Amino acid sequence: MVVPNRQSSIANRKSKIENTSTPFKLTRLQTHLMNWPDSPALLAPLGPWFDLHRRDLPWRHGDLGRPHPNPYAVLVSELMLQQTQAATVIPYFERWMARFPDAAALSVASEDEVHKLWEGLGYYRRARYLQASAAHIATLGWPTDVDGLMELPGLGPYTAAAVASIAFQWPEPALDGNAFRVLARVLGLDGDPKHYAKRLRSWLRPALEKLGASRLTQSLMELGAMICSPAPKCLNCPLAVHCEARRSAATDRIPPIVQRRKPKESELMLLAVEAHGFWLLREPTQKGLLAGLWKWPALEAAFVVEADLAADSGLPYASHELYSWSGWTQVYTHRRELVSPFHLRLAQRFLAPKGFHWVPGAELDQLALGKRDQRLRELLKGTGTVPLRGPSASWLLDHLRRDAALAG
Ligand code: SF4
Repeated sequence: MVVPNRQSSIANRKSKIENTSTPFKLTRLQTHLMNWPDSPALLAPLGPWFDLHRRDLPWRHGDLGRPHPNPYAVLVSELMLQQTQAATVIPYFERWMARFPDAAALSVASEDEVHKLWEGLGYYRRARYLQASAAHIATLGWPTDVDGLMELPGLGPYTAAAVASIAFQWPEPALDGNAFRVLARVLGLDGDPKHYAKRLRSWLRPALEKLGASRLTQSLMELGAMICSPAPKCLNCPLAVHCEARRSAATDRIPPIVQRRKPKESELMLLAVEAHGFWLLREPTQKGLLAGLWKWPALEAAFVVEADLAADSGLPYASHELYSWSGWTQVYTHRRELVSPFHLRLAQRFLAPKGFHWVPGAELDQLALGKRDQRLRELLKGTGTVPLRGPSASWLLDHLRRDAALAG
């Protein structure tokens, strides 16, 4: 029998550990966590700073030591604030609360009206989630814990924790991009701060209990939005004396900048077809990015069409006018559209392809449209120019029908 040499067995185990990246990372993280200062002591300056410098936002209320008098307002604001800046949200929030002051009012509203009020805010799925959550609350009341909040449509861990702490004073750590950035810098975290999420939540909980859940949550968000922005204003920061990133002059690399994927680019013709005071629009779909919204017909312009408008003179919709405006680039999170807008006025209506509807002109302003389509609706209030070269009416309509057949 061969008895293993004790020294060589220890050396083998050591080399295994050194060759495996996970234990190395865990050891570093654990070591680092052991050095994190006490969260209530570290974050205590945030509350007084917030009391002095907080923005007066319509969903905020004065007494941060108590539950919010209107949790529904907190829910509305948190859903509107997802991916959207507070300054953009304010007028939407005010209009929304005037029209739907509580969950019961929102739960019985028509989907068209809900989308119309959300028009321009983007990410329309949030409006549908909000209405579904309102229906749940109006029927069953508010959930009694954060797990119950997470069961409401559209509420992930962050939004549920934000509503829990701001509306109800439950000590639930809400970590959004702003909070991650502040904490990563203050604690000097290496790499993506989201990797520390679980530990950060445990670390924050005592501070939320001691300093007040609503005040601490909002002050952390506010500091991230106003002071500890990507280019931080450290001289105005209440946490500056304890901040690890500032001390080590590492604010430009903590947290590391995430390279976004290059957005996909496409070119399309956006088409307002009008006949006898009616407009041809694509009806809202139930699914997809712009579900619930009306859309102008849009054709992918994979190639440039150069047609002589006079060539259409023998067609049933022969008597037509075509106008155009300068195009623009519509930017979405993951794609960019180079949009060429057209107004095609026909002498007579044709049978609307499947999925399309002729909308009376008087109703055009009532329809909920996405940003791109709103822009064309605004252009139609002026007059475009007659394009010297452009797609012919017959080409446009032919492609529109084919496009509708494919979509249908
Ligand atoms: S000192 Fe600067 S980097 Fe540190 S938390 Fe404050 S603003 Fe952010």
